[in-house]
Amino acid sequence: MTKLITFVKIVLGDNMECIFCKIIKGEIPCFKIYEDNDVLAFLDINPDSDGHTLIIPKKHFADLDDIDLNTLSKINEAAKHIKNILENKLKCDGISLLQNNGCVQDVKHYHLHLKPNYKNKQSIEILKHKEFISNPKDIYEKLKEN
Ligand code: AMP
Ligand code: ZN
Repeated sequence: MTKLITFVKIVLGDNMECIFCKIIKGEIPCFKIYEDNDVLAFLDINPDSDGHTLIIPKKHFADLDDIDLNTLSKINEAAKHIKNILENKLKCDGISLLQNNGCVQDVKHYHLHLKPNYKNKQSIEILKHKEFISNPKDIYEKLKEN
């Protein structure tokens, strides 16, 4: 059985178990904010601030070394669009972009973090007092409001 799994992994690639690939395939739910042919954006399940969003390519790339420039450009294009959505809907005062690689990257499917900042919550965010951060489901409802 182990040999069969190893063989399938070699043929299909190591992304069989990738949690973000499973989100793309709809096998794991997410709070989707934006989607096009190349990328998907959804709320982080363990947000650092209200509206903390992840943008991922639909094709599996591990990290910045792995991803091609064309896909990077699609992600940046989506980032500009989603930044506007977060600013308009959540009235945040600034947005930080972050992309982890190597030992600080937990999920090995390339993803860009968009972290909204709020003037009145800045110190809270720095201290990462998670109890002051809303449930992603409530933020999702807010973003979907007309
Ligand atoms: P990084 O340290 O850059 O790899 O960050 C991975 C991020 O993915 C973390 O902020 C996690 O909270 C987030 N994450 C992990 N699993 C899920 C999931 N199923 N849905 C949404 N976000 C997730
Ligand atoms: Zn993946």
